[in-house]
Amino acid sequence: MTTGAAIRLDRVAFSYGEAAMNFDAGIEASVITAVMGPSGSGKSTLLNLIAGFETPQAGRILIGGADVTHLEPAARPVSMVFQENNLFAHLSVEQNVGLGRSPALRLKDRDREAIAEALARTGLAGKEKRLPRELSGGERQRVALARVLVRDRPVLLLDEPFAALGPALRDDMLDLVQDVHEERKMTVVLVTHRPEDARRVAQRMIFLDNGTVAAGGETEFFFGPDGPAAFRHYIGTEETAGASRKTARKRT
Ligand code: ADP
Ligand code: MG
Repeated sequence: MTTGAAIRLDRVAFSYGEAAMNFDAGIEASVITAVMGPSGSGKSTLLNLIAGFETPQAGRILIGGADVTHLEPAARPVSMVFQENNLFAHLSVEQNVGLGRSPALRLKDRDREAIAEALARTGLAGKEKRLPRELSGGERQRVALARVLVRDRPVLLLDEPFAALGPALRDDMLDLVQDVHEERKMTVVLVTHRPEDARRVAQRMIFLDNGTVAAGGETEFFFGPDGPAAFRHYIGTEETAGASRKTARKRT
C-alpha cells in the first residue's frame, strides 16, 4: 500500500531554447490534481520535470520533502503514463506490465501475482500473450495503466493518457484511476484538456499559461463564479470551439 508524496517545484526554470518556463508550485500529497492550460503552455514539460525526463536549469524539485532535482527517472518515486507510445512493440502484454516490477523481467511469484491482478483490474485478463499491435488503442492504454499499478509508486503522472479514446471508454478509465486512488491514496497529477475530466476526478487544479502557473486551487473554486479569470476565459473559448472538436480533436 502506497500513500502519496507532496511535490514542490521550487523556482524551477527550464527552456528548450526558445520561451523560458518558470514553475513555482506545490502539489498536495494524496489527492488528484488536474493540470490544464492551452497547447504549448508547458503541461508536458511540467510532468517531464517531475518525472526526471528533463532537468531544471535552475531551482529544485522536491518529492516527499527529498530533493530529486538530479535523480534519474528510475530513482524517483514516480510513474508516468504518456498519451501514446507507452509500450514496447516486441513484448507481450504480460511482459510490458512486468517491466513495472523488474526492468530485466526477472519475475518472482509475487510479481506474477501482482501482474495478473493488475491485468484483471484493467480488464485485460485473457490477453496476456498479445502484442501491442494486436490491441485496440484503449487496451494499449490499459496495459500502460496496469504497468503503473504494479509499480505502485507514491506519485502517478498522467499526460493526457486517454485523449485518444472515445467518451465512454475515457470515463471508464478515469473511474479506474479514481478507484485506484481511493485505495492507494497516491499523489495523482492528471493533464487533461477536458474540463469535464478535471471536474469528474480532481480535487485540486493547476492552470498553466505561457510556461508558468497562472492559477491553482480547489476544483470547486476553479469552476465557481469566482474562479480564476484566465481559466474561465480558457474554458469559455473551449466551449465555443466545442462544435468543431468532434471533427478536429485538439491534441496537446
Ligand atoms: P503542452 O504539453 O502544454 O502542450 P509542452 O510542455 O509540450 O506544452 O511545451 C511547452 C513549450 O515547449 C512549447 O512552446 C513547445 O513548443 C516547447 N517544446 C516542447 N517540447 C519540446 C522539445 N522537445 N523541443 C523543443 N521545444 C519543445
Ligand atoms: Mg502536452
